[in-house]
Amino acid sequence: MTVSDFSKVFKQLQNKPSKLKKYIKHNKPKTRNFGPTTKGCRRCGSNKGHVGKYGINLCRKCFREMAPKIGFKKFI
Ligand SMILES: [Zn+2]
Repeated sequence: MTVSDFSKVFKQLQNKPSKLKKYIKHNKPKTRNFGPTTKGCRRCGSNKGHVGKYGINLCRKCFREMAPKIGFKKFI
């Protein structure tokens, strides 16, 4: 079973409550207090290339797209 998100499988297991309970028990991702996985892009959810400065909290790709709207100017 390959899924990008842990909670996406719940849709499949809705009809089997006991299997769902067992699945959650054994496959629930570790809750983390620090590290790159705790921070995510608020637009797309990616945790790679995070820009957290000034409370932006976007990934680098979304920042590139959103920067002119936010008020950033490209320095030439
Ligand atoms: Zn993003």
